[in-house]
Amino acid sequence: MSHPSQYIAGQWLAGAGEPFQSLNPVTQQAVWEGTSATADDVDAAIKAARQAFKTWKRHSLDERIAICRRFAELLKENTERLADVIGSETGKPLWESRTEIGAMVGKIEISVKAYHERTGTKASDLPDGQAVLRHRPHGVVAVFGPYNFPGHLPNGHIVPALIAGNTVVFKPSEQTPKMAEETVKLWAEAGLPDGVINLVQGAVETGIALSNHPNIDGLFFTGSVPTGELIHKQYGGNTGKILALELGGNNPLIVDEDIDEAGALHHVLFSAFISAGQRCTCARRLFIPNGEKGDAFLEKLIDATLNLTVGRYDDEEQPYMGAVVSLHAADQLLKAQQNLVEKGGNMLLEMTRLEEGTALLTPGIIDLTDATDVPDTEYFGPLLSVYRYDDFEDAIDKANDTRFGLSAGLLSNSRERYETFLEDIRAGIVNWNKPITGASSAAPFGGVGASGNHRASAYYAADYCAYPVASMEAETL
Ligand code: NAD
Repeated sequence: MSHPSQYIAGQWLAGAGEPFQSLNPVTQQAVWEGTSATADDVDAAIKAARQAFKTWKRHSLDERIAICRRFAELLKENTERLADVIGSETGKPLWESRTEIGAMVGKIEISVKAYHERTGTKASDLPDGQAVLRHRPHGVVAVFGPYNFPGHLPNGHIVPALIAGNTVVFKPSEQTPKMAEETVKLWAEAGLPDGVINLVQGAVETGIALSNHPNIDGLFFTGSVPTGELIHKQYGGNTGKILALELGGNNPLIVDEDIDEAGALHHVLFSAFISAGQRCTCARRLFIPNGEKGDAFLEKLIDATLNLTVGRYDDEEQPYMGAVVSLHAADQLLKAQQNLVEKGGNMLLEMTRLEEGTALLTPGIIDLTDATDVPDTEYFGPLLSVYRYDDFEDAIDKANDTRFGLSAGLLSNSRERYETFLEDIRAGIVNWNKPITGASSAAPFGGVGASGNHRASAYYAADYCAYPVASMEAETL
């Protein structure tokens, strides 16, 4: 099954590095086999992107948009096939993977509309009417993707970059090489000229070769905080270049005393366990009031969690949650749970392996109110921590006791409390009486603190993928 895995200057080439494969997290069968890109392969991909940039930036905006729209059509035509690829590599149920492809399609029109809005030029662009704003692409950008949304998240960088006229070297997660390959094939089929998108497959060494490379003009990264911190260092010497880091979180969700249990339960379950807890915005820490009402809520939450279904991505009766991405990830999560128990956590519902030899985990809930030395880290899976609080101020103080700041949520019937929450909570994305994973595809999306330095929005293409040039112009001397 091993085959040429790198796409460089329009050619599929064998990487000169180590062989690797992606595995179905349930069956452990290989989904994809190939070789990784070495530093020389990465260098060749960057050279190809640099060469293609000379002509791609001269394509008209309409031509670039037409290719993106053809790509969107191909995504729609191939939805079932691509959903199967995502499910087989990540374990994500088909119903969810189809939604992911839909989000990839939606990104294109949102980006086109916003780019037109931001970049339309007219003589009075600046208040004194003296300058016209032109937008120029940066050049060659490196795009790093995580495994959890292997289509949608890289697409969120690639589409704006291409619309603005940049060329791309794409380094996907080593856990989802097949989805990356299929996506790049569709770009080629849509008519993207050779060298405009290049694919380098591989793990850490490939990633280091790309992020260290002196000849890239921008680096767009979505992934974990530890990797983001390394990338920041590796890329650190390149001042004046664009670095967008979209990282993880340790996201709080506060349940107010006044909530209606039935309505709140659904939002808590979805926030904590959708995608088997593998969304950057998932609730990791749940804050529940002390006292009888809080006790009753927790009991109902445990019952409702026990009813969630877990299964294979392609089960006929589609499960609520699939497997986590790999046996290794499942082992790490189970180890982390054990560690939290040793630190004084009270296991309310144990996260367990559903079937031996698979990465299928049942959702777990652990009360950490009395635990000590709990690491401020992201457990990227179906494990929810609970903390009891005394009053609303105490809840917000505890929620803010983290170096992260990605998403946060409040379930409450009081607008006044929500206003206080909005003022005081430290997070880039906030939800009120909705699942905490909610986000608008057009609004700025990103975190503060350790969660990153970037905001992806509809205006990404104009605001990050291009730089404005103030052009002082006169028709005649
Ligand atoms: P990861 O950090 O392990 O990997 C991301 C990418 O970085 C992969 O392509 C990987 O091969 C590469 N990489 C790893 N080490 C590297 C190094 N030293 N130098 C260069 N590249 C390197 O992330 P993951 O496990 O694939 O994805 C899950 C993480 O992504 C979670 O932490 C999640 O919160 C985060 N995430 C954030 C967002 C967001 O928008 N903020 C969205 C989705 C996921």
